[in-house]
Formats: sequence, C-alpha cells, structure tokens
Amino acid sequence: MSATGRCLCGAVTFTAEDVDTHVHACHCSMCRNWTGGPMQAAQVGSIKFQGEDNIKCFTSSEWAERGFCSVCGTNLFYRMKQPEMYMMATGCFDDAEQFSLSGEIYVDEKPSGYDFAGDHPRMTGAEFLASMGLEPPPPQ
Ligand SMILES: [Zn+2]
Ligand SMILES: [Zn+2]
Repeated sequence: MSATGRCLCGAVTFTAEDVDTHVHACHCSMCRNWTGGPMQAAQVGSIKFQGEDNIKCFTSSEWAERGFCSVCGTNLFYRMKQPEMYMMATGCFDDAEQFSLSGEIYVDEKPSGYDFAGDHPRMTGAEFLASMGLEPPPPQ
C-alpha cells in the first residue's frame, strides 16, 4: 500500500510505497535521545519527498543515518545505507491508524519505567543486529 505524510511544519512531505504497516519500536539509547522516546518506524519499499532540500541527515552509525526537517526539527526517518532502506517515523504519516505495533528491538536498552503492551517479539540489540546480518559495535 502507499501512504502520505509530512513533517510538523509541512516543508517536507512524502509519499511512500509498499508501506509495511506492521511496525516495530526501538528502545535504543540513540533513538530515545533523538526522538525523545522510543521510535516507532515503518519500513517502506520506496519513498518520494517534496521539499527534499529541507531534509538534513545525521550519520548515527557506520551503516545508517537519521533524517529530519531542518525547519521544524521533525524526525522523519532512519535510513540504512547498504542496502538502502528507509524506516519512516510512524508519527509523520497522515493516517497513524493504519499501523500496528508488531515488534520491539533493543529491549536491553529500554528504561524500566515504561512497557508496551501486547504479545509480539522482543529482541535485544545483539539479536536485532544478528537478524540484520550486522556485527554489534565493540563495547566502548
Ligand atoms: Zn518541517
Ligand atoms: Zn534505535
């Protein structure tokens, strides 16, 4: 299915194709720092932006970057570089009702003060990276 969305100020709008409405929530410290809470994101097959000049990207790891609206600061997406894959923040879609939470990742980094309800898979960061064929970063 396709779906449209926008940032808070409207400087960036988008149309996504092949939207996976079964979304996951990420509790990793970077997502929580970046979004102010756990990030819920939907994988999309392809995406077309309007106002792309207003998107800034921050390289948050070797393999991914995070895009946001440089006018209003809305967190738009997490983008894997290789192979290219967009995870769009579900809060940016015009119709948020289409999404259902179907997994949680980085549960080992989740603060104990909140929990999401529901019976769905919960993966640690290491389990998630292994499922993506990636090596966990060395401990700092
Ligand atoms: Zn904006
Ligand atoms: Zn994360």
